[in-house]
Amino acid sequence: MASRASCAQRWRLSGLLAVMLLLPTALQAKPVPVPSEAEFQSWLADFKRMAVARGLSKPAVDQALRGVAYIPRVIELDRRQPEFSLTFWQYLSRTISDKRIERGRELLKKHEKLLSRIQDEYGVQPRFLVAFWGLERNFGDFTGTFPLLGSLATLAYDPRRRKFFSEQLIAALEIIIAGDIPADSKSSWAGAMGNTQFIPTTYRAHAIDFDGDGKRDLWRSLPDVFASSAKFLAASGWQGERTWGREVRLPKNFDFSLAGLNKRKKIKEWERLGVRNVWGKALPSVDLDASLILPVGARGPAFLVYQNFRSTMLWNRSIFYALAVGHLSDRIAGRGPLVAKAPANDRPLSRAQIIEIQQKLARRGFDPGGADGIIGSGTRRAIRAFQATRNLPQDGFADAGLLDALRADGVPQ
Ligand code: CA
Repeated sequence: MASRASCAQRWRLSGLLAVMLLLPTALQAKPVPVPSEAEFQSWLADFKRMAVARGLSKPAVDQALRGVAYIPRVIELDRRQPEFSLTFWQYLSRTISDKRIERGRELLKKHEKLLSRIQDEYGVQPRFLVAFWGLERNFGDFTGTFPLLGSLATLAYDPRRRKFFSEQLIAALEIIIAGDIPADSKSSWAGAMGNTQFIPTTYRAHAIDFDGDGKRDLWRSLPDVFASSAKFLAASGWQGERTWGREVRLPKNFDFSLAGLNKRKKIKEWERLGVRNVWGKALPSVDLDASLILPVGARGPAFLVYQNFRSTMLWNRSIFYALAVGHLSDRIAGRGPLVAKAPANDRPLSRAQIIEIQQKLARRGFDPGGADGIIGSGTRRAIRAFQATRNLPQDGFADAGLLDALRADGVPQ
């Protein structure tokens, strides 16, 4: 099973990658100098010695890494900083289109028998396996065009995350030497592989040869793809008899400090606090731990989420991603869209606007701990304090509505 550290790393890779790919504009960071051929080859020779010392066969390592070159574009992508982060509503509309739902339903039907065999073995419901498949790379349409070994070697050479990517390169070599995939396989720029976009260490630990051809092939074999996804989720605590969570309705004057994935209550307790299903009816009477998630703060939809949501976050540590997987699986199963709707002024905040929020909070005596354009716990605390004094719902959430409220707020003194 993948360690927590590698899962967190994985989120940084594929979660950020997914968001960046959707962004219209991105700031280019300072260019990183490209090493000379001699510098890179000297590093590669050291790396090969290390791989052989770790027990890999020297001829196999030499053969796999023959012709591997440094790829400057990989480092450009690694250093790119998004100017805007998408709002939840923008993320959702880009990840869950009617077309994708329709295709998910068709594929669910088409692969019904295979998915049901995998459900029997690993206990993950077919609609979720199809949802993961759809979200990772649009049902396998885009599995990456970068050379796997070249991308990983570039990132392992680069000092920023050398240790992590050296481990990924070792794992990729092991998978290639075992005969699962060819040495010239393609991946994302950060080495995420095949239909599941597993990084090499996750691939090594969780990929399954379900069609029995002797290869764990997450590019071309759907039985391998679905079984590997299911095995990863089963190892992450997936509960096959349960769903992921649900959209709910909150009572007036709800205490928003109860929200967050680290706060758990029984469904019965949420019920006592006035939480209802999205149509205002009673919550299901099951004995489950649930957390309340507010992806857009007090003005947006509210969700009670269960264990399968947490398992999804071990796949990709992004709340937006996990909500999208859950919602897409519901839509594929024939359920309707979210009841909450995007507000009229739903627009992403730029870094400059986040800095403006932080400066305006500070000028009003609510210290966000610096104006760095990044929303951290200090900024959220300062927002809550501002909201408390202005009689606003205290969700600590920065969005266009908060910026508008701060701009309209007379500075004291
Ligand atoms: Ca296979």
